[in-house]
Amino acid sequence: MSRDQTPLTIAIDGPSGSGKSSVSKAVADRLGVGYLDTGAMYRALTWWCLDQGVELTDEAAVVIAAQALPLELATDPQDQRVLVGGTDVTADIRTTAISSEVSKVATNTGVRPILQQAQRDRMTAIAAETGGVVAEGRDITTVVAPDALVRILLTASEDARLRRRSAEVHGNADEEAIAATRDQVLRRDRDDSAVSQFTVAADGVVTVDTSDLDFDESVEAVLAVVASVAGHTQSDTR
Ligand code: C5P
Repeated sequence: MSRDQTPLTIAIDGPSGSGKSSVSKAVADRLGVGYLDTGAMYRALTWWCLDQGVELTDEAAVVIAAQALPLELATDPQDQRVLVGGTDVTADIRTTAISSEVSKVATNTGVRPILQQAQRDRMTAIAAETGGVVAEGRDITTVVAPDALVRILLTASEDARLRRRSAEVHGNADEEAIAATRDQVLRRDRDDSAVSQFTVAADGVVTVDTSDLDFDESVEAVLAVVASVAGHTQSDTR
């Protein structure tokens, strides 16, 4: 907990391939606070709908699935297991099959308020337990936690984002792999943009551009913003 006992709530938004998830996890780890991957919640709901035979285009049925989603999400940044109805879906929710369908669920306007409220509740519980939380997604700085102590938009050039995601998914960043990744990065962000604004920082949100930063430098850049905004050092919460 911080010196004045205010929970260290950190909201991070950004497009695919900005380094959001890996950087957010490392930042939570360094600060000794819990972590919430809100994208995993949309992915888990997508997995569950497909598993249950719910048509993703049937908006009302997906809303009902969102209300009933039996989700267990680990809060330790080093152990990000995701269980749905007791089934470990940690790896399954990262497959191309889910990545290419998740925007259908995320752009369902009946689903969003349900998951957004669940995310607020999780943030509150994690912060109470660990003294803070790093929550990342597309609408955390603007809708889920606009009152977070620290709000950051993590960006990177289109080129850098494609290269990173390609290396992550295909193990290399040659021309063919980049083309295959284009759908997962650019098309998905375009679809997601219909319901969330995550390319330009809202008022009071600090932009961190990672285009020319490696992973460690990106983590340090975010920690520097946390230190300047919240007056925290990594040892404050330990
Ligand atoms: O961050 P990640 O790529 O895992 O997110 C998966 C999907 O979940 C995004 O493409 C987007 O459709 C949705 N999402 C969202 N709002 C958030 C987090 C993720 O709509 N806060």
